[in-house]
Amino acid sequence: MISVDKALNILNNNISPLKKIEKKTLTHSCGYVLSENIISPINMPPFAQSAMDGYAVNLHEKLLYTIIDEIKAGDHHQPKLKKGEAVRIFTGSPVPETVNAIVIQEKVVVNNKTIKIDEAINPGANIRNFGEQVKKGNIALKKGVKLTPASIGFLTSLGITEVNVFCKPTVAIVITGNELIEAGQQLSYGKIYESNSAMLKAVLERFGYNKVSIHKVDDNFENTFNKLNEVINNYDLVLVSGGISVGDYDFVGSALQKLNVETLFYKVNQKPGKPLFFGKKENTYVFALPGNPAASLTCFYIYVLTALQIMSGHLEFSLNKVIASSGSNFKKSGHRSQFLKAIYKNGTVKILEGQNSSMLHTFAISNALVYLPEDQNEIKVKDKVETILLPLN
Ligand code: AMP
Ligand code: MG
Repeated sequence: MISVDKALNILNNNISPLKKIEKKTLTHSCGYVLSENIISPINMPPFAQSAMDGYAVNLHEKLLYTIIDEIKAGDHHQPKLKKGEAVRIFTGSPVPETVNAIVIQEKVVVNNKTIKIDEAINPGANIRNFGEQVKKGNIALKKGVKLTPASIGFLTSLGITEVNVFCKPTVAIVITGNELIEAGQQLSYGKIYESNSAMLKAVLERFGYNKVSIHKVDDNFENTFNKLNEVINNYDLVLVSGGISVGDYDFVGSALQKLNVETLFYKVNQKPGKPLFFGKKENTYVFALPGNPAASLTCFYIYVLTALQIMSGHLEFSLNKVIASSGSNFKKSGHRSQFLKAIYKNGTVKILEGQNSSMLHTFAISNALVYLPEDQNEIKVKDKVETILLPLN
C-alpha cells in the first residue's frame, strides 16, 4: 500500500498529454488546451485608439484649444493638428499621429469651436498605443494555455478563427455488480439502484469530458475479462466501478492482470478509496474505482481528474486548495490519510457527520474535502486544515 503523495507522484510521472491533436473553430474550443504557440497575425490594437470620449489634442502650454474636426469610431481620416488644436474624438476612434493626448470630456468646457481644459494633461493620456497588447509576429498565447471565454475573445480580436488543441480523452465507464438495477425499475429485495454511472458521467461532463460511454457487466470473470478487453482497445481512459476489492466475486483485478494491464499502483493508504487501482496498457489508462459511491467520487476528484487534465494538455490542476480554519473537532481511527466531506464558507470549513464511504448523502450536501494527512490524528476547532474546494456550479 502506498501513500496519497506517492500515488499522485506515480500518476504525474506516468501520464502525458494525448498524442492526438485536432483543429477546432474558436467558438467550439472552450475548455481545450492549445497544442502550439499562437503567433499574432496583427498588431493589437492595430492602430492607436482613443480610450475615452473627449478631445484629442496636440499639446501646447496653454489650456485653450481650437476644435478643427471630429473622428468617430470606425472613421479613417487623419486630420493634421498643429500645436493648440483639438479634434472631437470617441472611445475606439483612431488617434491621428499629430495627437499626443486625449482629454476626457468631463474635464473640458466647450465654447463654440474652442475648449478650455481645467487641468494640465500628461502626454499619452487616454491613448491605447499601437500594438500595446501584442505585436504582429510575437506569441499571443503559449502552448498549454487553457482556452477560456477571455482567451477565445482575445484570439478572435486578432482575427483568428481556428486553433490546434490537444484532443480530450475518450472515456469508458464499466459498472460491475450483480446487485445493481437501473433507476426507474422496481426495486426488489437484495438489489440497489446503480448510481455510480450517473454520478461519474455527470462529473466528467461538468469538467468538459463529453465522450463518455457506459458499459455494464455482471460479477463473472469471463464477462469482466471480455468487457475490459473491448474497452481497453477502444478508449483512452477506462474507469471501472466496483469489483476491485478482495471479495470472492471481485473479478476486476484478476481480469486486468490476465489482460496484461501494467499495475502502476494498487491500494492507497487513504479513506475512503483504499482499493484504488491505476494501470496502463499501451496508450490506455485504467482506474479501477471502489464501488462504494462516496469512495468512487473522492477517487475521481483526487486522481482521475488529474489524469484527465494531464491527458488533455493542462499545465495546472484546476481544483483549488485553500488553507481553512476548522469549524469542527475530528478524531480519526487508524493511520490512513482521509478526505473528509465538508462545507467551506468564508475561510472556515465544517467537517460533516457521516463520513462512511457508502454515504453519498454527506457528499451531496458538501462543497469541499478536508485533507487529513497520514501522520495527523485529529483536527481541533480553529486548526488550519488543507481544504480542496469542489467546483459545484
Ligand atoms: P464493490 O466495490 O463492488 O465491493 O462494492 C462496494 C459497495 O458499493 C457495495 O455495497 C456495492 O453494492 C456498492 N456499489 C458498487 N457499485 C455501485 C454502483 N454502481 N452504484 C451504487 N452502489 C454501488
Ligand atoms: Mg461488487
